[in-house]
Amino acid sequence: MAEGKKIVALVVAAGSGTRAGGGGVPKQYRRLGGKAVLAHAVDHLRRAGASDIRVVIGPGQEALYAEAVGDRPLPPPVLGGSERRISVLNGLEAIAEDGGADIVLIHDAARPFVSLDLWERVVAAVEDRELAVPALDSIDTTARGRDTLGPAVDRSDLLRVQTPQGFRFDLIHAAHRAWAGGEATDDAQIARAAGHKVAVVRGDPRLEKLTYEEDFARAEALLAARMVSRTGLGFDVHAFADGEALWLGGVLIPHERGLKGHSDADVGLHAVTDALLGALGAGDIGTHFPPSDPQWRGAPSSRFVEHARALVEARGGRIDHVDLTLICESPKIGPHRDAIRARIAALLQVPEARISIKATTTERLGFTGRGEGIAAQAVATVRLEEDEA
Ligand code: MG
Repeated sequence: MAEGKKIVALVVAAGSGTRAGGGGVPKQYRRLGGKAVLAHAVDHLRRAGASDIRVVIGPGQEALYAEAVGDRPLPPPVLGGSERRISVLNGLEAIAEDGGADIVLIHDAARPFVSLDLWERVVAAVEDRELAVPALDSIDTTARGRDTLGPAVDRSDLLRVQTPQGFRFDLIHAAHRAWAGGEATDDAQIARAAGHKVAVVRGDPRLEKLTYEEDFARAEALLAARMVSRTGLGFDVHAFADGEALWLGGVLIPHERGLKGHSDADVGLHAVTDALLGALGAGDIGTHFPPSDPQWRGAPSSRFVEHARALVEARGGRIDHVDLTLICESPKIGPHRDAIRARIAALLQVPEARISIKATTTERLGFTGRGEGIAAQAVATVRLEEDEA
């Protein structure tokens, strides 16, 4: 479909709406399952097939935007205006400056869950009829009134119009430039005012706009139902050496000998890092931090753990649990258990209740029994969005 055509998704994220609560943070930057609503919208559009995505943000929202999208590869955001239609026009002008497009799909960030099916329906309809919107039938009895119920309205031809709305780029660009009305709640109205006929395709209940607090609760539930669990295992060994500091689980432990290794040789944090990478299916610690790379010489292993945590977050995941076992005759882990637990919880940005620290010996058998080194194993349980798993 749409072979060779340039299709741009224009995501409007410029609103300042805080009706849904969120402590004054506009709803498109609020977090849903650990990821900003805007990031969900961008990721869903990308998975649905959007290769070019432009985002319009409100003045002063640069920092919120940067935090929301992280290192996703996106062109710089377009600055919007005080009204939605001005934001869209600015976005269309930016696309035009970048060489224009064949088709533009204009989408509200507050409807994050765009499916592949929906995207294809809209694009196919635009190829056929130049302008198309997704919409749902009005199912509930619809009536006039405010405090007192008025007469019911015939709902047989009423539609609840959604986004993304698809247009031939030049048509909607010209329509926006020619618009002389006031604020418009969507772009199809602006297209209609310019004399265009807009096709209707079947919408998607999952595209309901996030407006009120209960909408966020519903979206969280929708997301939670789509999360799958992944478990990863990590194992590591380092040998004792004289003249080294002993780092275990991110804590400096007074001991006559420390562990030898390329980094700070924190065997506990290495096992935790590998467990998290394992849950993501993202290789191992050596893939991400090659021992041949001099920049990791003596590096604090907290950086490895933080990197793994960031990878989980980037995939919209949640760390449910980490269980770490340290295997050695000495030092005794018990006196340091709470500090290690607190440190790992802080590095992973989770409550301590999700971290378990255990210790055992090997009954004086083997290399740990002879005091030649320390072994560690860890299990991490991570929940990921189905599409990211
Ligand atoms: Mg290691």
